[in-house]
Amino acid sequence: MRFARILGVAAIVSAIALTPAQSASADPFGGEPGGYPWRADSRDHWYCFHPSIPGGSQWVFHDAMANLDAQTVMWDRFASSCGSSTDIIYMDNPDLGYGIAGAALCWTLAPGSSSVCDQFWVALDPWEIANFWQPTYAPLDTHIQQNIRHETGHTTGLTHNGTPTSAMRSGLLPDLGFYNFVWMLYESPHHVDHINGAY
Ligand SMILES: [Zn+2]
Repeated sequence: MRFARILGVAAIVSAIALTPAQSASADPFGGEPGGYPWRADSRDHWYCFHPSIPGGSQWVFHDAMANLDAQTVMWDRFASSCGSSTDIIYMDNPDLGYGIAGAALCWTLAPGSSSVCDQFWVALDPWEIANFWQPTYAPLDTHIQQNIRHETGHTTGLTHNGTPTSAMRSGLLPDLGFYNFVWMLYESPHHVDHINGAY
């Protein structure tokens, strides 16, 4: 089954692993050696919902994309139906694998490129987060919110960052109280230049 195979690949390259966060390394950015394998094709970041996303939870995705728009050079563009030019198709998948909370996979590469992506499939497994979550961590809803922002961040080419308030942190979150996950905490201003310069 193609869907399952693709998500298996995604789990290897891009998933949130529900294990302690790794410390950040230098210079990993979408398409660079050692970095995340893909980045978006432009600053216009069109997104849509697969029917597996419940209508009642769509506001969390809209909120994440609006936050990305506000914080970075990316523009949030909502498409009420998914098409070939949509940059992100969000979907729920209850079986990404043990300990895998989400995955961002390039489904269609830009012509002639191995690292610029025309369309990502972002698959989320909130049930898996719930399986690992305990009351000593940040609230479950906070984890769901961070999961969406985290995988969305991958679609801009960002890799992982260990800062607890970073959208790109991997792993369960300590309970720090208020969270407003950000992309601009990613590593350093040097990396902010990357996200600006890539689009
Ligand atoms: Zn990740």
